[in-house]
Amino acid sequence: MRIQISSRTLQSDFVKKVAEISGQDLLACNQCGKCSAGCPMCFAMDLLPNQIIRLAQLGLEEDIAAANTVWLCASCLTCTVRCPRGVDLGRVMEAIRLVTLRKNIDYVGASSIPGETAGELPQIALVSGFRKHTA
Ligand code: SF4
Ligand code: SF4
Repeated sequence: MRIQISSRTLQSDFVKKVAEISGQDLLACNQCGKCSAGCPMCFAMDLLPNQIIRLAQLGLEEDIAAANTVWLCASCLTCTVRCPRGVDLGRVMEAIRLVTLRKNIDYVGASSIPGETAGELPQIALVSGFRKHTA
C-alpha cells in the first residue's frame, strides 16, 4: 500500500469526526497489535484492526474506505477489552462506519442480494444488516 501523509490528512475533518463520535484519543494507540491478535473476524479482513486505527490516526480516509474491515467488524469488543492503552476500538470502528454512512454511501444494497439468498436469511439478520450497512 502506498501511503501519502500530509498536514491536510492529519488535521482532516475525518480525524476530528472519528475522534469526536467515538470519544477516543486515536493517538493513544501504540500499535501493539493485541486487538488484531484477538479479533475473531480478522481472518476475513483486508486490513487488521490495528492497521485501521493507524490509518485513522493519519487521516487516510480513502485507504480505510477501500478495505472491508470496518464493515466486517462484529462489534464484539474483544479488541476493546484487550487494549492496554484503553482505546475502545469497537467505538472507533462504529464511528468510521457512521462517518461513511453520513455521506449517503451504502455498503450493501437490497438489489445486490440474490432472491434465493434473501429468502433463506432470517429476517432479523437482514434488518440488522441494513441498519449497520446503510445510511
Ligand atoms: S469489535 Fe470488531 S475489530 Fe474489535 S475484536 Fe470485535 S470484530 Fe474485531
Ligand atoms: S490493542 Fe490498543 S494500543 Fe494495541 S494496537 Fe490495538 S488499539 Fe492500538
